[in-house]
Amino acid sequence: MRLSDMHVHSTFSVDGAADMEKMCKAAMSKDISRIAFTEHCEIRSEPPHVEPYYLEREARRLKEYARLSKKYGRELQIAYGLELGQPHHNPEEAGKFLSLRRFDFILGSLHFYKSADDHYHDVYYVNYSLIPPKVMFCDYFTDMARMVEHGGFDVIAHLDYPLRVLNGILSRPTILDYRDLVDVVLRKAAEKGLGIEIGTRGLSDWQRRVGPEDWVLKRFCELGGEIVTTGSDGHRERQLGNGISQAVFAAKNAGFRYVAYYKNRKPCFEMIDDHT
Ligand SMILES: [Zn+2]
Ligand SMILES: [Zn+2]
Repeated sequence: MRLSDMHVHSTFSVDGAADMEKMCKAAMSKDISRIAFTEHCEIRSEPPHVEPYYLEREARRLKEYARLSKKYGRELQIAYGLELGQPHHNPEEAGKFLSLRRFDFILGSLHFYKSADDHYHDVYYVNYSLIPPKVMFCDYFTDMARMVEHGGFDVIAHLDYPLRVLNGILSRPTILDYRDLVDVVLRKAAEKGLGIEIGTRGLSDWQRRVGPEDWVLKRFCELGGEIVTTGSDGHRERQLGNGISQAVFAAKNAGFRYVAYYKNRKPCFEMIDDHT
């Protein structure tokens, strides 16, 4: 089967470390058939409402995408994607932004969450001695359910994102304690025909596995979720494509027969090999 890395960043993302062409070459050298450049675009309730770093480089991004699609299109399918951060925090600006652009694929991410007391928090900068992980997670998944309800994207990226920063704070990398809240997210996503991403970044981090956990993937399948994508969240060449076959295995193990990739915001399905 052909492997897809549907979560890739280049230097058109604020924290990208390699340019688009280098990332394309890395994909081809690793036997990845499809990639999606999902550059960061954060939406915020306060100005700047739409990521200035993204907007300033957008015209160049489009040009480079056209050039590379032409140059490598035979060997590598390149999707023009986006990692849209918390669109529901500013529906008007997010709506305006999306209505003027065309993408193949949009990941929805919650990098900043809104807590019950109406404050916004960057998961990476929460002071966990003041805000216990339990409180953060409850607010986090509650806000994620609002994001899914709002929509404006195709697939939920890194559903267990806060685990990245909780090494040494949690004893185990799990979100099992929040099963009921995660259930609401999964149910809504399944109902709306949205997908969830199986991310491979945790393989090289303290989770030592792809994420979210197996029980999340199984539950999503049980609830009628049909779309799972695979992605590395690679910001540099050596991260791109890492562990994608393990993500496919996790999908199969959870009961999925296909993994998805996207074109023109429509899912396409690649059947999982029997010997995966
Ligand atoms: Zn992200
Ligand atoms: Zn990302």
